[in-house]
Amino acid sequence: MRFGTLDGRFVLVREDQALDVATASEGILPADTLAALKRWDDVLRWSESADWSGAVPLAAEQLGAPVPAPRQVFAIALNYRPHAAEAGFVAPEQPLVFTKFPSCITGPMATVELPDGNVDWEIEVVAVIGRGGYRIPRSSAWEAVAGVTVGQDLSERVLQLAGTPPQFSLGKSHPGFGPTGPVVVTVDELTDRDDIGFESRLGDEIIQHGRTSDLIFPVDDLVARLSAVCPLLPGDLIFTGTPAGVGNRRTPQRFLQPGETLVSRVEGVGEIRQKFTARS
Ligand code: ZN
Repeated sequence: MRFGTLDGRFVLVREDQALDVATASEGILPADTLAALKRWDDVLRWSESADWSGAVPLAAEQLGAPVPAPRQVFAIALNYRPHAAEAGFVAPEQPLVFTKFPSCITGPMATVELPDGNVDWEIEVVAVIGRGGYRIPRSSAWEAVAGVTVGQDLSERVLQLAGTPPQFSLGKSHPGFGPTGPVVVTVDELTDRDDIGFESRLGDEIIQHGRTSDLIFPVDDLVARLSAVCPLLPGDLIFTGTPAGVGNRRTPQRFLQPGETLVSRVEGVGEIRQKFTARS
């Protein structure tokens, strides 16, 4: 199953059609995404026999963020060995966790105004929490996850790396710095939930690519470790980390410029697209 939001309402998505869940269920299920995810098992059960006759045609650019207002956004730094190495670190022994403040979360086709500084790309597979829970054992961690979506952990490197020690979260939370979408694909639809391929492009050039089978701390391990401290809530996002190929570790360094378009694709999920404009 695939779900997203259309005009701020929770929808199921099939090919180029969207089904408004609240309308099609005659109000049995809610229109609000967080409310729907709180009833994840009811949504799954209902979706198996949903009547799609009321579905509407859908163009990809109409979709909003699949979870427009998550309560918690976790992000993991240095979770691929080659990226840790290019950043000048040894691989961490426990996940390095920061947040992207939820006001930065946007949909799949956003235009992003570049703030002052050096704005960089980080394609990431994002896990979306469904049932959630507290102190979830790793053996059942995937059952807490609704599915995965595409994300970019856009990062302004000057602010991110200023100070000793640096603070990651602010420089990664400018407006539009958390694009997600286009839909969440449920775990059962993934060919291999622990081996998801992805790549991003600027123009014709592939700038990053990877597979989640190379994660140092895979999704189930992250769910267990994060939920050991913070109860994971329906709709929470986990940006699982980026592979090698970011702009600030290139020689010469390279950052996003006004007029450029960044396209990020996760196999089996789809793509998101950000166009960048100069600071107004
Ligand atoms: Zn990141």
